[in-house]
Amino acid sequence: MEIMADRVVLIHYTLKDDNGAVLDSSAGGEPLAYIQGHGNLVPGLEKALEGQQEGSTLAVSIAPADGYGVRDEGLIQRVPKRSLQGAGELKKGMQFQARTEDGMRLFTVTAVVGDMVTLDGNHPLADQTLNFDVEVVTVREATGEELEHGHVHGAGGHHH
Ligand code: ZN
Repeated sequence: MEIMADRVVLIHYTLKDDNGAVLDSSAGGEPLAYIQGHGNLVPGLEKALEGQQEGSTLAVSIAPADGYGVRDEGLIQRVPKRSLQGAGELKKGMQFQARTEDGMRLFTVTAVVGDMVTLDGNHPLADQTLNFDVEVVTVREATGEELEHGHVHGAGGHHH
């Protein structure tokens, strides 16, 4: 079966930077399960997988704009500590998800000075070319419930 919108896809992947260093990999664990066409992967990877067959392997190099984005200094902001109540003790290097106008975004604390915290909303892999080696393990139709929830149930997905 080939990969197209609304199909559940299980992949094994290894992500490397331009120097060949492994940034992330599913090797040795469960494959990653996602629903094609729902923006669950970075745009360049989803595009490269469209039309691929179960069992195929591919190597794809993704420019930052189709990956985790180009670094944007406008995503760096200083906010008072008190506006981050519930985030726990704030330390440089800590990361948390927060809702923004563009949906959920990962923020990294880059400085804590007095009562002010500097947050960087750029993805840690912004500006990086993403080099993926991917093996398509399984492709199947998504169930109505999976499409409704927007995530995969069962192997590699949610259990609830
Ligand atoms: Zn669910």
